[in-house]
Amino acid sequence: MNSNYKIPVPKNEPIKTYAPGSPEKIELKNKLEEMYNKKIEIPLIINGEEVRTGNMGKSICPHDHKHVLAEFHQAGEKEIKDAIEASQKAWMMWSIMPWEERAAIFLRAAELLAGPYRAEMNAATMLCQSKNVYQSEIDSVAELVDFLRYNVYFMQEIYQNQPNNSDGVWNRLEYRPLEGFVYAITPFNFTSIGGNLPTAPAIMGNVSLWKPSRTAVYSNYVFMKILHEAGLPKGVVNFIPGPSSKISDIVLENPNFAGIHFTGSTEVFNMLWKRSAENMPKYKSYPRIVGETGGKDFLVVHKSANPREVATAIVRGAFEYQGQKCSANSRAYLPRGKWNEIWKEIQEEMSRVKMGDVMDFTNFINAVIDKVSFDKISNYIEYAKNSKDADIVWGGKCDDSKGYFVEPTIILTTDPHFKTMEEEIFGPVITFYLYEDDKYSEVLELCNSTSQYALTGGIFATEREAVIQAEHVLRNAAGNFYINDKTTGAVVGHQPFGGARVSGTNDKAGSVFNLLRWTSIRTTKECFLPAKDFVYPFMDEE
Ligand code: NAD
Repeated sequence: MNSNYKIPVPKNEPIKTYAPGSPEKIELKNKLEEMYNKKIEIPLIINGEEVRTGNMGKSICPHDHKHVLAEFHQAGEKEIKDAIEASQKAWMMWSIMPWEERAAIFLRAAELLAGPYRAEMNAATMLCQSKNVYQSEIDSVAELVDFLRYNVYFMQEIYQNQPNNSDGVWNRLEYRPLEGFVYAITPFNFTSIGGNLPTAPAIMGNVSLWKPSRTAVYSNYVFMKILHEAGLPKGVVNFIPGPSSKISDIVLENPNFAGIHFTGSTEVFNMLWKRSAENMPKYKSYPRIVGETGGKDFLVVHKSANPREVATAIVRGAFEYQGQKCSANSRAYLPRGKWNEIWKEIQEEMSRVKMGDVMDFTNFINAVIDKVSFDKISNYIEYAKNSKDADIVWGGKCDDSKGYFVEPTIILTTDPHFKTMEEEIFGPVITFYLYEDDKYSEVLELCNSTSQYALTGGIFATEREAVIQAEHVLRNAAGNFYINDKTTGAVVGHQPFGGARVSGTNDKAGSVFNLLRWTSIRTTKECFLPAKDFVYPFMDEE
């Protein structure tokens, strides 16, 4: 109040190493042990209160699927309606709260997460989503902290945008929150996205209903506790795990529904869009529909590329977090003339990859998220095994006796339109297609037209001409394009993230562009000396 405050310039949260003997490793190991051995009960959070329904779901460890970490309460019709009502009550106060007060709450949440809650958040994400420590650290801590710090900064940048003025007139833009609530539906694969989708709108003064993924409730709940401790007022974010379609049925019928902030599969997003379109006459305003969805992320390798660098980009890009990143590299076009060299390097790297439990830090690969996913991925692998157009050249074994383990798998196909070159598998599976070195132009066209998705993709080449050609032909094939790098690992504030075509609305999570969707601008013109006569000079004849 009475000051032009400045939000601290955001710095990306440094990633801890968890090297042997480091204090962070000792603390995390203890936390993992403690949380693994202590089953908890997770309530809904509506209007800041814990709510229990007795209709329970289970959070398990995907790498040890008989082990239950928590039982969580699921929302029914009453709780969904209560959450909407609570959000509307909170809106009255939150939508007019001074922005610096809102900012302070989220900046405090960032510090709590980076400090006292770091080990708990990592342990929760490792155990419940089966991430190794590095994958968890870059997601559930670093990226989520970055989202919070950068988004409040972007909020201020938006507010600073003001129009021109003429003599005697002051024009102002006021960045109002939407009139209603935002429905945040979050995926299992990134705890950071879980936290970002309900809070990005809240930073702009909106209220939200947060429906977490069934398989990420355990870690998402840790963030809910952080928000509470940071001082987020009651009802601003309401946490309602539960049956997705029932929740959507009720939410999407409500007149105060003002927007969807979604990340997940293309099919679910299409359904949500369709349902909101059908209900359009019921709404008080046109909803903002923001969704980041699937991908079939590519790497095109030119004959001038360095084989070792290509191999590392593929091993990391395709297999980190078991390929369960929307940006995971799942198809690669390799020049036949370089194949032997690239393949030798890939085999050398893959022979050092270990798979297993997250508690053993030497494992690079852990389990896939659940039985549905395990079956889906195994079916794709089985399909490739039985096809005359493809060979499994690495991995291919699946075993769900203890955990949902799928070996990192490489398929080599002779058909550039082979099923696994086109469809999103969302697992540790990549398909290679070899092209003749002199058919580079054709392969770029092929890559551009093969998939309906356009999320991430990359080119490996040292010849600049080849890079320029790829940038041109693949202009619309990826919302995030990489030159000589893997297709994953976008950093908040550095590579705003999102794809086009059926990969989403491309509103670029973790950027000013995303936050702009959560505001409805009011323009005010104030006239200091109003006119006193309707007559204009042109009305005189002489
Ligand atoms: P999903 O679509 O199965 O689930 C996403 C969310 O939607 C979950 O909370 C789920 O419970 C909910 N949901 C499912 N049916 C629903 C319904 N009828 N009504 C309302 N909500 C419903 O996706 P997932 O398995 O959690 O995540 C993987 C998918 O997410 C992949 O397709 C991946 O590419 C995509 N993804 C995209 C990005 C991106 O930025 N583009 C980031 C992460 C994940």
